[in-house]
Amino acid sequence: MPVNMIVCCKQVIDPEAPPASFKINSATNQVISPPGVPPVISPFDEQAVEAALRVKDKLGGKITILSLGNNMLRDVIKKPLSMGADELILLEDEAFEGGDSWSTAYALSMAVKKIGQFDIIFCGRQAADWDNGQVGSGIAEILGIPSVTVAKKVEVTDSKATVERIITDGYQIIEVTLPALITVSNELGEARYATLKGIMAAAKKQPTIWKPADIGVEPSKIGTAGRRAKLVKLFQPVKEGKCEVVGADSPAEAGVKLAQRLREAKVI
Ligand SMILES: Cc1cc2nc3c(=O)[nH]c(=O)nc-3n(C[C@H](O)[C@H](O)[C@H](O)COP(=O)(O)OP(=O)(O)OC[C@H]3O[C@@H](n4cnc5c(N)ncnc54)[C@H](O)[C@@H]3O)c2cc1C
Repeated sequence: MPVNMIVCCKQVIDPEAPPASFKINSATNQVISPPGVPPVISPFDEQAVEAALRVKDKLGGKITILSLGNNMLRDVIKKPLSMGADELILLEDEAFEGGDSWSTAYALSMAVKKIGQFDIIFCGRQAADWDNGQVGSGIAEILGIPSVTVAKKVEVTDSKATVERIITDGYQIIEVTLPALITVSNELGEARYATLKGIMAAAKKQPTIWKPADIGVEPSKIGTAGRRAKLVKLFQPVKEGKCEVVGADSPAEAGVKLAQRLREAKVI
């Protein structure tokens, strides 16, 4: 049975960017994109693409990539196409900016409704920037379909998926009736590399762009206007290190002085 899949992929600041390049505008509670560091697809989302490709390799079907944002870099967001996905739909508009997990899940669900037929929606277990881990379950809730989170293996037979789901000391095996939403964890294994043929094919494909009006969203429910969570304060924690040198004329004296100092500081 060919399987019709949608994979939600988010473009994020590269989590491997040097920590020193990470800056915050505390006045606006926003992260400043590090200059000269190109964004990437959130790594868990690449693994979600890989999960979909493994299903397609076995059973055939179609993979549609869905991404919400603004000014997305084409070379970056087209990567799933070069890995083997079939279609790319971008919800791209400045009205989508400043959203939270709920408004993101709402807009993505409305786009899924417009796509229509699907068997599985794959998401990453969490986005590598904000790490909320909420959007996948939110989409399932809004669409009224079952969801299974943190999957490490997905097998599809007939109209069911058998999912190995990570728990603290092992994994559970869950059977879910399709259509369903599955979030994918890193334990799935490495996402495949894009092939040269795939890169060339992806370069020729144009994404479909949907504006808010195309998916019938209420303007008050997307982006900043649609936020249900209030971000009170965004800040970088200050880490302070203090070094005290214990001076002495001999190692024995240094040991005594060190012990005294540690006792004063109530460490011993
Ligand atoms: C354009 C833009 C502007 C933003 N501006 C602000 C801001 O000003 N202030 C602020 O606090 N936050 C902002 N955010 C972040 C936003 O609040 C979070 O993206 C949202 O709360 C979801 O949380 P998360 O990213 O941790 O997703 P998670 O819940 O961790 O994501 C889980 C999975 O859901 C899917 N998913 C999540 N987001 C998307 C997406 N955009 N497209 C496709 N799939 C997705 C992916 O599969 C992902 O792996 C902005 C986000 C975007 C896209």
